[in-house]
Amino acid sequence: MARILLVIALIGIVVVYLWRRRRAAAAAISARTSQTNAADLPRLPGARTSILERHVRLWHRLPTPLQERLLPRLDEFLERIPFTGAHDFAVTETMRTVIAAQACIVTLGHEHYPFDDLHGITVHPDEFVVAESAEDEDTGVVTEGFRTLSGQAHGSDRLVLSWRDVDEAQSRDDGYNVVIHEVTHFLEHSHPGGDPAAHVALTAAYESLCAAVDRGDETLLDPYGAEDLTEFLAVAAEFFFERPADLAARHPTLYVLLRDSFRLDPASWPPPPTAVGNASS
Ligand SMILES: [Zn+2]
Repeated sequence: MARILLVIALIGIVVVYLWRRRRAAAAAISARTSQTNAADLPRLPGARTSILERHVRLWHRLPTPLQERLLPRLDEFLERIPFTGAHDFAVTETMRTVIAAQACIVTLGHEHYPFDDLHGITVHPDEFVVAESAEDEDTGVVTEGFRTLSGQAHGSDRLVLSWRDVDEAQSRDDGYNVVIHEVTHFLEHSHPGGDPAAHVALTAAYESLCAAVDRGDETLLDPYGAEDLTEFLAVAAEFFFERPADLAARHPTLYVLLRDSFRLDPASWPPPPTAVGNASS
């Protein structure tokens, strides 16, 4: 069944996982994890809307029809996707709801539930460290090392998130949202294909950011987007949802590209609340 969610999804790029990092490196932590089954967590269906009201900024901006579309999708997501707390981290109902709601909001422009391929979400209390290797294209030399991440998408199978980064994103509109970022990676991998013309336009926008970064210009989009085309798409998606008016004003062609892809027009939504409550306490 053709369910191309991201029409600008990139073609032919295979990435095992991608990452995002903005804050200073945290101390390395062990890889021990513990499974938290959804069935073991307190179920508070009557409180779900209350959690959205208190802790999810984007909920307040959604037009009523999209809020109505979100709730059943959110229920299905929470029913089907197991959450794992790393290092005995207790993933609460509030955390699950905050993460799941943002993941689902990204997909609300499309009719169908798009997370059939997502097998689980691992939540770390803070940034986490992973081993990585990189091969020099010219010399073939492989360098082994570690990298500190706040989010990671394992292809179209699993997301890994730092709860601290998820939570902090609710208190500001700076265009940084690790859930939107990693879900965009997930959608790109799970719904490959796309419109070649859109791909060309996306590439042009990416090259424009690269040139601006090379010149040392101050850019609206995070310079991290110049890493590669895949990261550019994820960074642009963060701004599309968090600062849509700014993106539409500064990069109108890119905004229209994303609007047509996500089939959402967040620049037309009401302004966000100044802040919502921190969900960690
Ligand atoms: Zn990324």
